[in-house]
Amino acid sequence: MTVRIGVIGAGWIGQDHIRRLTHVITGAEVTAVTDLDAAHAAEVATGVGARALPTGQDVIAAPDVDAVLVTSWGPTHAEYVLATIAAGKPVFCEKPLATSAEDCLRIVEAETAYGRRLVQVGFMRRYDAGYRAMKQVIDAGEIGVPLMVHCAHRNPTVPASYTSAMAAQDTAVHEIDVLRWLLDDEIVSVQVVTPRRTSKRLEHLQDPQIMLFETANGVRIDLEVFVNCQYGYDIQCETVGESGLVRLPDPASPSVRSAGRADTAVVQDWRERFPAAFDAEFQEWTASVAAATAPTGPSAWDGYAAIGDATVQALESGRIVGVAMKDRPAFYAGGTAGGTAR
Ligand code: NAP
Repeated sequence: MTVRIGVIGAGWIGQDHIRRLTHVITGAEVTAVTDLDAAHAAEVATGVGARALPTGQDVIAAPDVDAVLVTSWGPTHAEYVLATIAAGKPVFCEKPLATSAEDCLRIVEAETAYGRRLVQVGFMRRYDAGYRAMKQVIDAGEIGVPLMVHCAHRNPTVPASYTSAMAAQDTAVHEIDVLRWLLDDEIVSVQVVTPRRTSKRLEHLQDPQIMLFETANGVRIDLEVFVNCQYGYDIQCETVGESGLVRLPDPASPSVRSAGRADTAVVQDWRERFPAAFDAEFQEWTASVAAATAPTGPSAWDGYAAIGDATVQALESGRIVGVAMKDRPAFYAGGTAGGTAR
């Protein structure tokens, strides 16, 4: 069976996923596309033999759409995910699942009431070979019990629409998700320390930020989020245990010796950094839709657990803020390869 997918939002990542679904993975075809810019939607749709529809609701309701991909702007995600659950169709939602814990919980409740898992969230790092190798090392006890994790999430620049709160809600969600999965642990408190601001920031923006998390098992995590670092897209993660440490490998890149220098290029964005992880994520999701089985990747619960409400409060108050999570419903117990196992 070829899974027919409708796409809501044909921006950067929407177009990249449309290319992936059409030309890279097997078993999927894009049949419908919508975007706020109708002419742009028509152009993207025509390029892959799909039709453009006026709204996200039209995509969700379309009879030739078996599953929905939400790649619109974050604040619109909850509305589309809830509507897709109401239609009884599987939905892959790019991160963040929603922009507040309250909206994430509405999705969790809707999916639980529906009685079958329909939602997968785009936390693709769980599919990255480097993170998977780190997890194997940690799970095998090779570094002993994890004590500390040092992370950095650096972007060259961000657009003017990016806010200080988005450092938590849009950027650090990736680290929170992958750290919960790597450590099999839950974050219980957060503090945000604000260093001197880079002069290359947008005027309204606190950049960089240092987020200090504590987990239920007492692991301390420091995460530097620096979204106007200028030099590249640089993701770092080092877990220190009682008897060793494990570090996320940098992407393979040739070392060039020329003109008296040895240089290694730094990648510039998420497309260059995690292409294989995105491919694996969509191949596995498509297979689960085709087989009418529950998605194996990050769930709506994981989307809720990663949302950064407490981190935003910590930034705004300057205080240590406790992370008050609801108890996980039994509905979300278990999980497999993509890593919902928590
Ligand atoms: P983008 O380039 O701004 O694309 C968003 C697109 O959605 C735009 O074309 C926008 O139209 C359209 N749109 C917005 N609201 C809509 C609505 N209500 N209905 C239909 N279309 C709508 O942003 P992006 O970089 O692709 O990011 C999209 C999402 O993916 C964000 O949630 C982002 O956090 C996530 N993302 C994830 C990763 C990852 O590593 N997993 C990487 C990048 C992005 P207009 O431009 O006309 O407003």
